[in-house]
Amino acid sequence: MPADPDFEALFAAAAAIQPRAYAPYSRVKVGAALLADDGAVHAGCKVENAAYPVGSCAEAGAIAAMIGAGGRAIRAVLVFGEGAELVTPCGACRQRIREFAAPEIPIAIAGPEGIRARFTLEELLPASFGPANLPR
Ligand code: ZN
Repeated sequence: MPADPDFEALFAAAAAIQPRAYAPYSRVKVGAALLADDGAVHAGCKVENAAYPVGSCAEAGAIAAMIGAGGRAIRAVLVFGEGAELVTPCGACRQRIREFAAPEIPIAIAGPEGIRARFTLEELLPASFGPANLPR
């Protein structure tokens, strides 16, 4: 079992980027941060669009930042949102994370006051389909 990731660093990165999210339509700003296999932290924020389906999630931005920096594996994810309900990754983002993460990685859900819940990717996306499921 790998050591517990530094969720304080992920929280700080996600909390810093969340206010910069572009969410004029839903007014729900979301930030996400991930810990890459090389120890780097990458963050992303939600970017909405007037053509609604074209918008992108905070997790997608964080993954793009990791790939652009040369990272290829995710060790932990933290999603930061406001409001009373948990802001968990949407279904599409669970699959986006799965492309670069093992089912056992932790995913923390945070609000302004701190971490509200912790899951594993397996709990959020059971019996998932990943790169190893493709025939070789
Ligand atoms: Zn999403």
